[in-house]
Amino acid sequence: MPYSTLDDFEPLSTIGSGSYGTCKKIRRKKDGKIYAWKEMDYGSMTESEKQMLVSEVNLLRELKHKHIVRYYDRIIDRSNTTIYIIMEFCDGGDLATLISRCRKDGIYMEEQFVWKMLIQMTLALQECHRRKNGKAVLHRDLKPANIFLDIDKNVKLGDFGLARVLHHETSFAKTYVGTPYYMSPELVNNMSYNEKSDIWSMGCMLYELCSLHPPFTASNQSELNKKICMGEFNRIPIRYSSDLNEVIAKLLRVEVHRRPGIEGILRDQRIQRQQQLLE
Ligand code: ADP
Ligand code: MG
Repeated sequence: MPYSTLDDFEPLSTIGSGSYGTCKKIRRKKDGKIYAWKEMDYGSMTESEKQMLVSEVNLLRELKHKHIVRYYDRIIDRSNTTIYIIMEFCDGGDLATLISRCRKDGIYMEEQFVWKMLIQMTLALQECHRRKNGKAVLHRDLKPANIFLDIDKNVKLGDFGLARVLHHETSFAKTYVGTPYYMSPELVNNMSYNEKSDIWSMGCMLYELCSLHPPFTASNQSELNKKICMGEFNRIPIRYSSDLNEVIAKLLRVEVHRRPGIEGILRDQRIQRQQQLLE
């Protein structure tokens, strides 16, 4: 879909507004196909932030995988300094919404659904972490709100990198207005972000899908940091199998070298069994 213009699309409705713009459901006029776009005002960005945004968007365009939200194109409207990022529309909502609904209704998710999320998130991350012609793409902002579902409840990992670009801008402070429950021990200790930090976040997310609360909670940051570095958490609810409990616990190993990478996860017998069931 090269060289689209604003005129090629018709906005249908606003899906929501985020920290850096608005997301709308849109329709391509020529064939009626539905997409989503993200509108971001780059008017107040510095030249280098804009450069980063451009290179990030170019990178997103290369990530093509069935479990990653597909980015199609971007349109730049100089008259109102807005960039429109056109992407796949996910009509199954996101995991954050699903978790809060379950918590409110007092129901747990099916174990099979959790395995499916685990496997599909792993496959999406594999695509990012093993990129051959360049550095691994790290998500850096894995959280339930960034995991979308399609109509068949398949994972679509979204909000790649953009988060990162924009965090540079108004920054960190803004991003972490909420408590960073998914921050890995190495980040707590000011070490650099790496592939294993994405694995930790995925472990936190799966734990929360089962327990309906994060593995580590505290009322202030320093207490949370302490708990994260201790790495102790309660078992996920007893209704879930010990296989699932063990796999999640493996993703939440405090020492980076003991925590599996993507390939290690995919070699796990328990995961391989579940993968066969899914096919
Ligand atoms: P933030 O992530 O900062 O909250 P976003 O702009 O990413 O803000 O998202 C705003 C809203 O749009 C959220 O409710 C999100 O779930 C939804 N959304 C984002 N991307 C898509 C998409 N590709 N398909 C459907 N809904 C989306
Ligand atoms: Mg988002």
